[in-house]
Amino acid sequence: MRHESLPPDVVAEPPAGGDVAASSEPLPGGQSPAAAPLIDRYGRRVSYIRLSITDRCDFRCNYCMAEEMEFLPRAQVLTLEECLRVTRTFVELGVSKVRITGGEPLVRHNIVWLLQRIACLPGLRELVLTTNGSQLERFAAELRAAGVRRINISLDTLQPERFRQITRVGDLAKVLRGLDAALAAGFERLKVNTVMIRRVNDDELVDLLDFAVGRGIDISFIEQMPLGDVGHARDERFFGSDEALALLQTRHVLMPSAESSGGPARYWRIPGRQTRVGFISPHSHNFCDSCNRVRITARGELYPCLGNNGAVPLLPVLRAHPIDQQPLRATIIQGMGMKARRHDFANQMDSPQVLRFMSMTGG
Ligand code: SAM
Repeated sequence: MRHESLPPDVVAEPPAGGDVAASSEPLPGGQSPAAAPLIDRYGRRVSYIRLSITDRCDFRCNYCMAEEMEFLPRAQVLTLEECLRVTRTFVELGVSKVRITGGEPLVRHNIVWLLQRIACLPGLRELVLTTNGSQLERFAAELRAAGVRRINISLDTLQPERFRQITRVGDLAKVLRGLDAALAAGFERLKVNTVMIRRVNDDELVDLLDFAVGRGIDISFIEQMPLGDVGHARDERFFGSDEALALLQTRHVLMPSAESSGGPARYWRIPGRQTRVGFISPHSHNFCDSCNRVRITARGELYPCLGNNGAVPLLPVLRAHPIDQQPLRATIIQGMGMKARRHDFANQMDSPQVLRFMSMTGG
């Protein structure tokens, strides 16, 4: 069976309840709409975007996508100039953190050109990137020089054969060489992201933590989300953060920490060690109340919530108005009115309501 990128449930009009961001109503905290235009109906300020610059990936992780994927034709994908324009517009509207993701962002041709330009946008505080690490050996130094401050590297196992099974095609040794190249390149922080999968890698969580501690890098353990039909029952494979924490505490002393990296992870510290141990727990510790981010897909759809289907297409607006910024700004601001109060992953594990794969929306 082939899987194509799915069109979103496009919502052209703001939902009932009105578009707070575009109205003249006072906003929570007394902010004026002009000063902080990206505020949703629930008073959450959006300061962080995740921009997927390609839906293509050189891995086929079996919990992330189907084995046979049909990727988007080039004409439907944002050009690099359009990626830059969308990002610049969000930054002008108050966004201060940008994560570049995919698909696999490092397979996009000329990515460094884009990163160099995003990094210098006035008002941007942080440019970060998520990668599977396969191309990092080649790119790490260039990414750092371009202005990327932190990198997340996805790594679900330290066993080569298992790595191949999960990714279907990946080479663990190459990823580990990439991680070493990133360490040598001097990023402010590196983090490993591990998706926890019962009976696949739950016996390795302690080893993965030891790996991170040994290199002085951070690690986050992520609960699997029901995004797309990947051909196996996700509920049987679900492994929660609380169980993981208990497991890790059999080996390490873990102290809760109030630190935040501006994303959804809750952190713990091991006394005397550099490593921050994060848990991203969309099921067991819902973090929607503090959500500060939206996603833009490679074909320019603005998804205000990862766990819902509503999206606003930006590509037609970009192409219809190549010079005038106002229509794009207005469309983005209107999109904030669609941000759902919360996702409901817990009740969708055996029948996902969000049919697009994580690789389409961008992790
Ligand atoms: N290719 C890059 C990578 O591998 O990091 C960026 C894109 S990938 C979609 C981003 C992250 O999403 C990865 O850490 C991946 O493990 C995670 N991911 C994919 N599908 C997921 C799911 N269903 N639940 C939780 N995390 C998922």
